[in-house]
Amino acid sequence: MSAPAGSPHPAASARIPPKFGGAAASGAAAPAGPAPAPHQQNDSLSCPVMQNVQPPKSSPVVSTILSGSSSTRTPSTANHPVEPVTSVTQPSELLQQKGMQYGEYVNNQASSAPTPLSSTSDDEEEEEEDEEAGVDSSSTTSSASPMPNSYDALEGGSYPDMLSSSASSPAPDPAPEPDPASAPAPASAAAPVIPQPSKMAKPFGYGYPTLQPGYQNTTAPLTSGVQPSNPVYSGFQQYPQQYPGVNQLSSSLGGLSLQSSPQPESLRPVNLTQERNILPMTPVWAPVPNLNADLKKLNCSPDSFRCTLTNIPQTQALLNKAKLPLGLLLHPFRDLTQLPVITSNTIVRCRSCRTYINPFVSFIDQRRWKCNLCYRVNDVPEEFMYNPLTRSYGEPHKRPEVQNSTVEFIASSDYMLRPPQPAVYLFVLDVSHNAVEAGYLTILCQSLLENLDKLPGDSRTRIGFMTFDSTIHFYNLQEGLSQPQMLIVSDIDDVFLPTPDSLLVNLYESKELIKDLLNALPNMFTNTRETHSALGPALQAAFKLMSPTGGRVSVFQTQLPSLGAGLLQSREDPNQRSSTKVVQHLGPATDFYKKLALDCSGQQTAVDLFLLSSQYSDLASLACMSKYSAGCIYYYPSFHYTHNPSQAEKLQKDLKRYLTRKIGFEAVMRIRCTKGLSMHTFHGNFFVRSTDLLSLANINPDAGFAVQLSIEESLTDTSLVCFQTALLYTSSKGERRIRVHTLCLPVVSSLADVYAGVDVQAAICLLANMAVDRSISSSLSDARDALVNAVVDSLSAYGSTVSNLQHSALMAPSSLKLFPLYVLALLKQKAFRTGTSTRLDDRVYAMCQIKSQPLVHLMRMIHPNLYRIDRLTDEGAIHVNDRVVPQPPLQKLSAEKLTREGAFLMDCGSVFYIWVGKGCDNNFIEDVLGYPNFASIPQKMTHLPELDTLSSERARSFITWLRDSRPLSPILHIVKDESPAKAEFFQHLIEDRTEAAFSYYEFLLHVQQQICK
Ligand SMILES: [Zn+2]
Repeated sequence: MSAPAGSPHPAASARIPPKFGGAAASGAAAPAGPAPAPHQQNDSLSCPVMQNVQPPKSSPVVSTILSGSSSTRTPSTANHPVEPVTSVTQPSELLQQKGMQYGEYVNNQASSAPTPLSSTSDDEEEEEEDEEAGVDSSSTTSSASPMPNSYDALEGGSYPDMLSSSASSPAPDPAPEPDPASAPAPASAAAPVIPQPSKMAKPFGYGYPTLQPGYQNTTAPLTSGVQPSNPVYSGFQQYPQQYPGVNQLSSSLGGLSLQSSPQPESLRPVNLTQERNILPMTPVWAPVPNLNADLKKLNCSPDSFRCTLTNIPQTQALLNKAKLPLGLLLHPFRDLTQLPVITSNTIVRCRSCRTYINPFVSFIDQRRWKCNLCYRVNDVPEEFMYNPLTRSYGEPHKRPEVQNSTVEFIASSDYMLRPPQPAVYLFVLDVSHNAVEAGYLTILCQSLLENLDKLPGDSRTRIGFMTFDSTIHFYNLQEGLSQPQMLIVSDIDDVFLPTPDSLLVNLYESKELIKDLLNALPNMFTNTRETHSALGPALQAAFKLMSPTGGRVSVFQTQLPSLGAGLLQSREDPNQRSSTKVVQHLGPATDFYKKLALDCSGQQTAVDLFLLSSQYSDLASLACMSKYSAGCIYYYPSFHYTHNPSQAEKLQKDLKRYLTRKIGFEAVMRIRCTKGLSMHTFHGNFFVRSTDLLSLANINPDAGFAVQLSIEESLTDTSLVCFQTALLYTSSKGERRIRVHTLCLPVVSSLADVYAGVDVQAAICLLANMAVDRSISSSLSDARDALVNAVVDSLSAYGSTVSNLQHSALMAPSSLKLFPLYVLALLKQKAFRTGTSTRLDDRVYAMCQIKSQPLVHLMRMIHPNLYRIDRLTDEGAIHVNDRVVPQPPLQKLSAEKLTREGAFLMDCGSVFYIWVGKGCDNNFIEDVLGYPNFASIPQKMTHLPELDTLSSERARSFITWLRDSRPLSPILHIVKDESPAKAEFFQHLIEDRTEAAFSYYEFLLHVQQQICK
């Protein structure tokens, strides 16, 4: 790696071959030596022969047809990315089908095993470990040696033995205990080695026989993997003797750590069928873990890190009894107003498990601290004895790392495998007839022109553009040219880069050329007759272009790709949109996009997809390019520049956020947890490398993740468990940083305590993620059944503990009282609903959102918030930036709440509806909507006028406040009662009965029936 940090073009030999593409795909073991990996794909990148194909430099935008005859190039092995690795398995193949369990692997390659990783030698691993630990200077000269694949362990796997064992063997045989002595020691030369409890390294991500038997489809008890003591199904019927009633209950409750209050509110039994208004009038907050005041104060914000159970069951058997999903919901890179940033020569981490020091470690004395995840005793390095904040010595426990559960470290070169990459942005734009017709180019180019100076980056930032229809067009923007040059490559079967060095250019050096291009682009294809779309070949070219550096590719697509690699055919039968039975084609039609994404991920490139389409475009296939490369997916159905102004406006606002928000490059994320717990299935857009390391070519502040947990070993010896997320990334300014969040939760031993600590929103979001996987790997109806069973099983299990109280009633602890409502909401959500006309792409997009949104946004999508807004008052209002924001109470999602005399706002996350009743007061209509009466309100209205009235001010203030709380701007629809558009609004009234689905009350009866069966 001879390239200096500022060089936009690291030498070709500095490229890191992708783990799952290129070198690995060709079956070649990546050598640890200095020789470049056999990565023939990339050879064409630096092909000098092409340089003589220069287009004329006269016309404003010169079109040059480059015939791609292969004779002019160095031999290229294949048109497509080389045959895939065996590890690129389809999710279903990975699945160990076990009844209705729906924790499986869609995006988790952890167990897919014969990965090319096995070809990377252990030497590499060690080298990486050394490098990361930053011991001797000799081993930190990483730039001298090529580092294939080493991003894997860069963040610091710890469990080094486990990493290599998982690499060499897919089987879940327990890895030997890592020898602490072999682990790199940051600063402690002769630490007293404390004998470690055994079973440090467990098989990750493989066969979870005891996983949540609650998600069984059939009423037959599981035959394997269930603890004998576990009342597998409908406990109180099969095993009445195990629950003697009152005694059992009181003993369970007695175990509560809240001794002073024998029954906290969260445990109050609620008779669901009798409590008609289950929805609270104020927003539901995350439950606060039951910790002592000091720990509570230090704990991680639930906005960043939440667990479905804030009381962790002591054993898997106890978890099985509760029949609740256990997992974490993460929003690791969210925008923060306050973030302690720590610059320190030594980042203090556990020598054994590589946990970052955090508020929940214990100091044995001034010189030693005990890891809260693996319990190893570590030395406090000398530097840590000084506190830069207080400028005092000898108070290691007061360092900011130990005072904040969310911190960011500026990482040293030890955390780099190559100089931090510059911010690189490539735009790949559909310019077919369809695209030109939709008119998105104008909005995009305008938005780019406005935000060009706000793109995150530094003086090294690079940018490039490609357009495509049936051919691929490159743009030479090299500084010094008088105009941008367009280079057309018509050979889409064997894509090559015409002038590799001048396509991604320095933003500042070529700014005028870039602006010229952005001004010209919207009109360049106005008269095109080209209807075809060679998206696949364009993506292959983008991959080649980005490979030397990595970065972000933004793809704008408006139709089904119809030419070249990755072409797709329509799979949607419009007559099946309302089907109540089988919903097909939720998975990809081809693995082309997934393979491409894996190649991109290996080269630190994420692909974001903007699908703007009025017709079926097979999002299920296209989305793979983003899912596996850690990209984002945006979908604008029925997009048209003029015919659909609200979509156009939404695109404009979304782009502003998209282009200017924070971005992290070449990132990896690892989640660690207290010994005894283990993670298996991960959810989100990323690629799982080496068991538990999430590879994120890009990370953005709007990305959410989820992970399922199981309890592998009894937690009887501890009263607290911790989870730690470490996100190592390169900032747009070229700094290597590590953002660390640590969450601490109590361990409990009684079922009542488990129920008392349920975070019902986290649970429902985790279930939604699991159900998406299930829909794709099995079927939609299986997923729906599993969701219903989640309610049936958990309420049944709870009911069995209180069966003596009200045997016939459907009871839930207060903590779970919203669970059935939320599940019903999921069943009526676009992703999972049946019997209601749903376009396939709409459904698939809803699934993509579920998998990648953070909890707070996902909840609004699942269960919208309804407010009455024609009578807003200042009562209970809050003050935000000198603005008074009314806080109307939440209304339940039922038509019974909609009086014709009122106006109601529904917040569905990405869409707002204002429904105006026929009898709505004319004062409101005039003061807020600006029309004299109901009849004069237009059918299509998407804005509230700025009127100088108190009610207008209140309504706008409230809506603005809601809007400001989310990254992407929601569309507003004002819906008159009686207008055809009201169906859209009414479909969100999930407590009501529809032709195709239960009302809330009917659903409760159904659940009750199932329990009593
Ligand atoms: Zn540790």
